[in-house]
Amino acid sequence: MECEIVETDYFTLHALCDGIFAAIAKPGQGAWSNAGIIDLGEELLVFDSLSTPSAGRELRRQAESLTGKKVKYLINSHYHGDHVFGNQEFSDTTIISTYLTEKLCNEKNKVEDYEKEKKNMDHYLLQLKNQIDSTEDNILKASLINQYQEMSKVLDDLSQLQIVLPSLLFEEKLTISGANRTVELYCFGGGHSPSDTFMYLPKEKIAFMGDLATEDLHVPIYNPEEFLTILKRIKQIDINIIVPGHGRVATMTLCDTLIDYLSFMIQRAKEALQNKMSLEDFVCEFDVSKEYKEWKGVNGIKANLTTIYTCLHKS
Ligand SMILES: [Zn+2]
Repeated sequence: MECEIVETDYFTLHALCDGIFAAIAKPGQGAWSNAGIIDLGEELLVFDSLSTPSAGRELRRQAESLTGKKVKYLINSHYHGDHVFGNQEFSDTTIISTYLTEKLCNEKNKVEDYEKEKKNMDHYLLQLKNQIDSTEDNILKASLINQYQEMSKVLDDLSQLQIVLPSLLFEEKLTISGANRTVELYCFGGGHSPSDTFMYLPKEKIAFMGDLATEDLHVPIYNPEEFLTILKRIKQIDINIIVPGHGRVATMTLCDTLIDYLSFMIQRAKEALQNKMSLEDFVCEFDVSKEYKEWKGVNGIKANLTTIYTCLHKS
């Protein structure tokens, strides 16, 4: 189905079919999330720019040397830094996102004061280090170590980081047609972030999901019920291969796993609210089923349980 063709310091490149490549992040090296390279015929489209300018630069270099073509478009799936901090390496291309993602990149990612930002990050890294040293949970420890390594790479690049904003904005759907290939961008709303875009290649039946799909990860939740609705809508689309925001190339079963995960927690939170259980008791007494016990994430399942309970309580 896929074959690994290039290994770099930051990611491995996998050919999914002729002219479609997935860049799968190597843990702890400054790519942090996955990206995509699409040969449209005369030019290239890149999906997400990775977590650091250094990794973004390597992504562009690989894309252009592999194909002998130039990048014309960059897509930002959502505003999180691990997907957009490589943007400056694509500043001469057309950067595309939803209106809301552009707004959030502008509001939340701006580095106003480098010294202050550096101090905050140093402080955060120190906190992580203390947590790493004190935890006895090996899965949590591994997640914290990975977070520490990735954040250190962002800090290494912080002095050269420039926030470059998307300039071609859309609301729900945008189709981009090249000489040989068409891609469709969709935003069904906000589940993981306030606005989540995924990219679909209808002829090849391949989708690049951003963080709407991740592998074995307690992916942060912005709106649990909308997340579930989005995934159920995606299930209606004819997709054979998905490239998650984090983790390996997969099939639609990865979406099913996430649907089960969200449904399970939402159901349990509804029961807890019906029984007037407090948030604290709900989180503490939650019996994590074994299929999620090995999942990674610095805040584990607890942060997601808290988000879900709180969101349902408000609605
Ligand atoms: Zn994200």
